[in-house]
Amino acid sequence: MIVPFLDLQAAYQELAPEIDETLNRVLRAGRYILGPELEAFEEEFAAFCGAAHAVGVGNGLEALELALRAHGIGPGDEVIVPANTFIATWLAVTRTGARPVPVDPEEASGNITAEGMDGAITPRTRAVVPVHLYGLPADMDPIRDLAERKGWVVIEDAAQAHGAKYRGNKVGSLGHAAAFSFYPGKNLGALGDGGAVVTNDTAIAERVRLLRNYGSREKYIHEVPGVNSRLDEMQAAVLRVKLRHLEEWNRRRKEAARLYLEELAAIPDLLLPRVPSHADPAWHLFVLRHAERDRLQSHLRAWGVETLIHYPVPPHRSPAYRALGLRPEDYPVAEKLSRSVLSLPMGPHLTPEMQRQVVSAIRAFGR
Ligand SMILES: *Cc1c(COP(=O)(O)O)cnc(C)c1O
Repeated sequence: MIVPFLDLQAAYQELAPEIDETLNRVLRAGRYILGPELEAFEEEFAAFCGAAHAVGVGNGLEALELALRAHGIGPGDEVIVPANTFIATWLAVTRTGARPVPVDPEEASGNITAEGMDGAITPRTRAVVPVHLYGLPADMDPIRDLAERKGWVVIEDAAQAHGAKYRGNKVGSLGHAAAFSFYPGKNLGALGDGGAVVTNDTAIAERVRLLRNYGSREKYIHEVPGVNSRLDEMQAAVLRVKLRHLEEWNRRRKEAARLYLEELAAIPDLLLPRVPSHADPAWHLFVLRHAERDRLQSHLRAWGVETLIHYPVPPHRSPAYRALGLRPEDYPVAEKLSRSVLSLPMGPHLTPEMQRQVVSAIRAFGR
């Protein structure tokens, strides 16, 4: 048996009657952009996050970009970002005209911390974008305290963390605004691209609504140079169906994580994810670490187990950011993680039988 990294077909199959019925309804309604499905989804997703507003946009990258722009971040500003994240976190900052300033993460969690930001702060620092990496919430209280003292804006990158909780509160309501992605492989995934900005600030929500629709509230009146970044009716309708199953699907992920943690606990040289007491993770990914990662990955492939690496090239070493002149030796933890992390199969349709195959394969490594 091949154990897939993530089975999107199974996700569709489980909900096929509901999704098909919904898509048919939207097809027949004849309204495809900025209609009632989007409005309903925005209300439902805001409520899910425990926040006042959600604004649907085209994807997670643009959710981050528009959240930053709505707070006035732009050319001349610096924005603190994690050194180990998907490059979109950095690209969103770059697209506003501001400069991403990386901070090396804490090794235990892989997330950035308030203490870690010391060397990155300058008079131009205007915002920080903590990422809840792999679905594990960053330690937000100290970050919020620091940001408040400094007058910074806090934008959560919650693209991997739909439904995760920090000290009992859902991510998405922990900063000035949060950005979500509904890329198909995320915990809440559309059948294409999608994203949302979530905030408690009514003025910011209005600003994002303006920016996502050509800077226009009223047709042909363009108040600001906006963009076209809208979550369409088909995707919003599918997301409404999937949102109703998100808690249950996250529960299955948690159960799968529990089984991995239990079964892999006693294996030498294997570092397992640790959950800090402040966190209730969404288990978007189950990421372990091994000094001989590449050899372990080939071994698992031979045993029919698909794995991925999140992420093999940190943004500071990406050709896209060569011009910033960043030195890899300044980000030793991000460097180390990029060489040792390995993501095991994870998702709501991973069966205990599949997990047994993964566990047996790992146990056989090096024997
Ligand atoms: C997926 C992701 C994004 C970007 O989302 P898209 O919808 O693919 O644009 C941003 N940040 C992180 C951490 C992500 O994992």
